[in-house]
Amino acid sequence: MRIPILRPMEKSVLKGDNIVSVNEQMVQDIVQEVMAKLQISADVTGGHGVFKDMNDAIAAAQKAQKIVCRMSMDQREQIISNIRTKIKEHAEILARMGVQETGMGNVGHKILKHQLVAEKTPGTEDITTTAWSGDKGLTLIEMGPFGVIGAITPCTNPSETVLCNTIGMLAGGNTVVFNPHPAAIKTSIYAINLLNEASLEAGGPDNIACTVEKPTLESSNVMMKHKAIQLIAATGGPGVVTAVLSSGRRGIGAGAGNPPALVDETADIRKAAQDIVNGCTFDNNLPCIAEKEIVAVDSVVDELMHYMVNEQGCYLASKEEQDKLTAVVLKDGRLNRKCVGRDAKTLLSMIGVTVPDNIRCITFEGPKEHPLIAEELMMPILGVVRAKDFDDAVEQAVWLEHGNRHSAHIHSKNIDNITKYAKAIDTAILVKNGPSYAALGFGGEGFCTFTIASRTGEGLTSASTFTKRRRCVMTESLCIR
Ligand code: NAD
Repeated sequence: MRIPILRPMEKSVLKGDNIVSVNEQMVQDIVQEVMAKLQISADVTGGHGVFKDMNDAIAAAQKAQKIVCRMSMDQREQIISNIRTKIKEHAEILARMGVQETGMGNVGHKILKHQLVAEKTPGTEDITTTAWSGDKGLTLIEMGPFGVIGAITPCTNPSETVLCNTIGMLAGGNTVVFNPHPAAIKTSIYAINLLNEASLEAGGPDNIACTVEKPTLESSNVMMKHKAIQLIAATGGPGVVTAVLSSGRRGIGAGAGNPPALVDETADIRKAAQDIVNGCTFDNNLPCIAEKEIVAVDSVVDELMHYMVNEQGCYLASKEEQDKLTAVVLKDGRLNRKCVGRDAKTLLSMIGVTVPDNIRCITFEGPKEHPLIAEELMMPILGVVRAKDFDDAVEQAVWLEHGNRHSAHIHSKNIDNITKYAKAIDTAILVKNGPSYAALGFGGEGFCTFTIASRTGEGLTSASTFTKRRRCVMTESLCIR
């Protein structure tokens, strides 16, 4: 799948396999159509997984799970196959809704993220069995469902996470109750409706995925304390992961990151500039895995920044502009939500700087403690930290990752350097010589997920993550060797 570089003012839609340009009137028509559908979705109560009360949502998901766990693996797979079809059909509408409702991200890139979820999220093939057979009989380790899983989802990838989580959880024989981010509730509800429609059409039950109309911290607490919920998957910042891990329930904690991209003197510097800026600007830097800052060895910093500025659409911010950006982006020391997921041109306009449409990222050189470098911003601002040598670069990158153990990236052709960095930074994801989105399966091997369990160590989650291990033992029989 090719990732198009979308300039901030470009409009695009998916027609078949192609992303094509559309005019402003067409965009307005699509947005109006989406908003009309949004209103319908938001008004739906009690149907297709949407409830007023969290207890009712959980009860409905429990009822559905009793049916799901009696279904054959083949039947589960038929529902998942229909979910994949529906995601592809609704990718554009979900992408537009996400941007419209949250004000964050890039429609073209969000379409690609939905296609990726549809195509590369593992289904029932991820549910496998381990067997020992011998003189004393046959023992199996089977992956069984937890039942109803509680899931808390972020506003940065709202429908992507809801859809990806549900495919994996359903493949494992579970149903799911979501407490989505309130700022993305309409988009999440639209996705939940879609999931249940897909199930019903494929002969499955309604309410395989449920939610409440108005998710709050209170509804989240009800979910975390409910005796039917044995596993909670939390995707979000440090607050939610800590809350879930303190709940007394088993928790999968997919928390914050601040991924550094390290560049050493053996890298293809021109390609590194291209890969890093492509990764950083994807969906306006919303993905938690995206490059958030660069650490480069002294001898390559100038060349790297030359390519970033002259070939990759980076705007070189002066000291004064950096200060103004810091004041806007980190208002009173807190991350300004109005800046998260905005494109570079919009961010610069907030400090009175007008730039052409081909500017897609903001860069500058600064120390690792610079607030625009040290903080996880989730916007296309890419500070460059100069290191005196490779060991110094590793030390600074490890500091910048803040022990999240989430994601890091490196551009190097020196295997010893790559190995040293990988061991020191100890992250769930480490992309070498490519853009960060290769870790999600875009231009890289492997499956897709939008829940990367950095804090609790499961790493990239898939159907098997959402199952419990059961030992199934037959003594003195069934060994036919
Ligand atoms: P957020 O932490 O503000 O919200 C995430 C979810 O948690 C929302 O549903 C929110 O309502 C809920 N929440 C927040 N505090 C809570 C609490 N104390 N108790 C219960 N629920 C709570 O994050 P966001 O802005 O929506 O998403 C961005 C953050 O999520 C970034 O830090 C990003 O790195 C992280 N993220 C991580 C992954 C991953 O896979 N590791 C994926 C996406 C986003």
